[in-house]
Amino acid sequence: MRDFLRKVFLADLFEGLWVTLRAQHPKNIVTEQYPAARPKVAERYRGAPRLNINPENGETLCIACDLCALACPENLIVVGWERNPETKRKELTTFTYDTSRCMFCGLCEDACPVDALELTQDFELASYSREGQIFDRQMLEEGIHPTPYKH
Ligand code: SF4
Ligand code: SF4
Repeated sequence: MRDFLRKVFLADLFEGLWVTLRAQHPKNIVTEQYPAARPKVAERYRGAPRLNINPENGETLCIACDLCALACPENLIVVGWERNPETKRKELTTFTYDTSRCMFCGLCEDACPVDALELTQDFELASYSREGQIFDRQMLEEGIHPTPYKH
């Protein structure tokens, strides 16, 4: 009898409508308003790579040790360097990072002994070509993206 009355009075339909109506309350809306409002990503999120600069002298922190390139399972980092004849130290000349092949595992970041390479929380990495996914040293140091997003 109960089932019969539920069917006659369309109880299931009204229950469903009530669920829909309840979800219209502003406090229940979960749609991200991106790009108008940037979403907050998880603390441990690994996104766009960055090569850190020493804030005191403006020089790169990278010592061109190549450990990040060796740690990368995808072999997508290429570190260019030359030896300074006076100091006998290796100095960074070029640095390329192909984000199109990167799986953002963070092994390169972990391998860096001087915290020069960092995977930031920046997630806007889209570009119109595969070549555009390759970050060079200037892009990595200055936070330039392949196709800057206009907010
Ligand atoms: S995050 Fe992983 S795949 Fe990407 S460059 Fe670093 S080590 Fe390679
Ligand atoms: S591991 Fe760090 S210091 Fe060594 S080459 Fe990579 S970014 Fe530079």
